[in-house]
Amino acid sequence: MPERRHPQTKGDIMSEYDYDLFTIGAGSGGVRASRVSSAYGAKVAVAEEYRVGGTCVIRGCVPKKMLVYGAHFAEDLVDARQFGWDIPECTFDWIKLRDNVLGDVDRLNGVYTQTLENNGVEIFHERATITGPHEITLASGKIVTAKYILVATGARPHVPSCPGHELGITSNEAFHIDAIPKRVLIAGAGYIANEFAGIFHQFGAKVTLINRSDQLLRGYDESLRDRLLQISLTKGIQFRFNADFRGIERTDEGCLRVEMTNHDPLDVDCVLFATGRVPNVEGLGLEAAGVELDDKGAIRVDDSSKSSVDHIYAIGDVTNRVQLTPVAIREGQAFAETVFGDNPSTVDYGCIPSAVFSHPPIAAVGMTESEARNKLGSVKVYESDFRAMKHVVAGRNERSLYKMVCDGNTGRVVGIHMIGPDAPEIMQAAAVAVKAGLTKADFDATVAIHPTMAEELVLLK
Ligand code: NDP
Repeated sequence: MPERRHPQTKGDIMSEYDYDLFTIGAGSGGVRASRVSSAYGAKVAVAEEYRVGGTCVIRGCVPKKMLVYGAHFAEDLVDARQFGWDIPECTFDWIKLRDNVLGDVDRLNGVYTQTLENNGVEIFHERATITGPHEITLASGKIVTAKYILVATGARPHVPSCPGHELGITSNEAFHIDAIPKRVLIAGAGYIANEFAGIFHQFGAKVTLINRSDQLLRGYDESLRDRLLQISLTKGIQFRFNADFRGIERTDEGCLRVEMTNHDPLDVDCVLFATGRVPNVEGLGLEAAGVELDDKGAIRVDDSSKSSVDHIYAIGDVTNRVQLTPVAIREGQAFAETVFGDNPSTVDYGCIPSAVFSHPPIAAVGMTESEARNKLGSVKVYESDFRAMKHVVAGRNERSLYKMVCDGNTGRVVGIHMIGPDAPEIMQAAAVAVKAGLTKADFDATVAIHPTMAEELVLLK
């Protein structure tokens, strides 16, 4: 808990504003910034028009991960038979899983709300708009003033503006559906598309991914992308590339017919748009306040998350820097440190590890092989292409791939890329070594933990 106190404390009766800080949006970034600022002595209020917790907790990372766990049982139950378990025919109850997941989301919503309240942050459960230099008007009509305003409104799914787009759903709705559709078309081939492709496939849906370009997971190492494509195809997930969405119509039989370029139309029962996310900047009064946006419509900020207006800051997805929860949290912490903690801080965006919770998952940190070749010239790459022990016993023909990219001159590890069971769990620790600038020799000098998949990282030849 921070100890320093800003001069303008909650007890400062001379303040000309109602609040020291007014945060718009109680997602991961907004909650962190608000509670730490309050702990530093600031008088803080936050407005949230939906539910405290934001995308990650309410309709993103957290419920998605629970569905990934639930989905994986489809394979685990099959594999268990090879380990001697006599498992009768299993059935899957989507409503039970859905409601258990949504129940936990409710619990987390309560935990986040309590965190704010315990830290003395006042919560307005309504929409807020900036209506003057330091003035905020709430949906109820109440007007308040604040010395600083923090915009942490996140982003929302982008839906292509094609005819019939309203017949599709996004990740927001995917957690609430009443039944697993028999046939799902997923538009996009990024994080959300590949994660939900795995989830729906494991729950028995026939899944087709379509993407406007000829690749999936742009930005990840090519070897991993190829491996995921190959494994997904083997599982039965279908892909259509260079397919631009043209439109959706409901047929007489009640299904959805999707038209796209370069491919035949496809009849499905559900269309999920996973075509990127756009910053939530509309209706906040940003333009009138003089807050500049960039060419993608995100709030333009400097290294300290300050917008073009001195007392208005922005953090998280609304700034479209790195759309990841832990990054938004760091931006929120750095904001509070800088503005109320008398400790100017910035976020280090180097070497951010990431994961895609596909089936199997992908994890990566640092440069891809091609990035390293472009940037460093001399590069040495080490790979391990192996079948996890549990897959061998299960007779599952699914190979993992670990790839280490090193600076050819110094031996420094500049990137690690993995696809295989538990890759994100393994990566978190490996990312510390990459961030610390360790070399291949340092990895080699570390004794393996045997038998594990992770030991491949210290046995690369
Ligand atoms: P991504 O950016 O990962 O992928 C978007 C996909 O949609 C790409 O395949 C892209 O094609 C395609 N696309 C983009 N714009 C259009 C368009 N206008 N028309 C048609 N297709 C389009 O976005 P997601 O929606 O999957 O996820 C949003 C963000 O949320 C991610 O970038 C990530 O930062 C975050 N996220 C993180 C997760 C994690 O950490 N595990 C999980 C889920 C989301 P192309 O190949 O041409 O680029």
